[in-house]
Amino acid sequence: MDCLFCKIIAGEIPSKKLYEDEKILAFYDISPIAPVHFLVIPKEHIASIDDITPENSAIVAYIFEKLPELAKKAGITNGYRVISNCKADAGQTVPHLHFHVLGGKEMNWTC
Ligand code: 5GP
Ligand code: ZN
Repeated sequence: MDCLFCKIIAGEIPSKKLYEDEKILAFYDISPIAPVHFLVIPKEHIASIDDITPENSAIVAYIFEKLPELAKKAGITNGYRVISNCKADAGQTVPHLHFHVLGGKEMNWTC
């Protein structure tokens, strides 16, 4: 499959890893927009939030259960923001479900 994040999971494209287990990978964004900016992805290819189903949704809960540990591991101490862009209007550029985790500064709320 011609998917950038599947290639990162497979190790075909290098990444700066924060955490990995049999189900998920967390790695730092190549173009960070906050002092701490990493992505959390399921190893199973799911294209976007629109493709979450009763059969595959457990991985979303698993990712969110892991987030406090991952944020702490990344050095975030004062809160963080989690974003998942879904399709064109949200600006999704990589069609493999991912959660941006942003921290390390006080953030505004704008669209
Ligand atoms: P989206 O725009 O789909 O919500 O987020 C995709 C993110 O992936 C972007 O923030 C972009 O900087 C990041 N990204 C794109 N290509 C690579 C890459 O090759 N390596 C890493 N680490 N991040 C990437
Ligand atoms: Zn993929």
